[in-house]
Amino acid sequence: MGHPVLRQVARPLDRQEIGTDWFLDLYADMIDTLHDYGGIGLAAPQVGESVRLALIELPGGTGRYGAMPDMPLTAFINPVVEVIDPATAGFWEGCLSVPGLRGFVERPQHIQVSYLDVSGNPKSLELEGFLATVFQHEFDHLDGTLYVDKLTDSRLLSFEREFERYLMPRAEADDDAADEVA
Ligand code: ZN
Repeated sequence: MGHPVLRQVARPLDRQEIGTDWFLDLYADMIDTLHDYGGIGLAAPQVGESVRLALIELPGGTGRYGAMPDMPLTAFINPVVEVIDPATAGFWEGCLSVPGLRGFVERPQHIQVSYLDVSGNPKSLELEGFLATVFQHEFDHLDGTLYVDKLTDSRLLSFEREFERYLMPRAEADDDAADEVA
């Protein structure tokens, strides 16, 4: 946080760029970074590239966000979010670009995402609940937005340690897995 690239609106990827050496290097670098930091999502601006590419990978099982769905590593190119139901719910979000903090953010919980996959094919996905939050967090990075911009209340921002001690919902506190929205 503070690096100007995180505040830029990232440019869309041209279909011809998908699959080039440059693209594949970026894609591989993002996978390594996501795995090194143990995140569940990563957007290209977080590794210094202002392009509309994000990765999401959900491990399933129970982690810091409670029971989590399983989703294999997937790349989203030029994603567009459409809100299906504007009713919101809140989660304590974290971010690899805002290390050491958690903040409570409310977002719509039923969305549709249209995107190109890593082969350049158009796809769409309907997402509900926590997954809808994860996707909106990641794609906000492509518009230069961080979750701290969307805190429900600035008092609902906490250091990790105090979050775990005082604020973490109990179901999440029972498991120490280091899942983090990224
Ligand atoms: Zn993030």
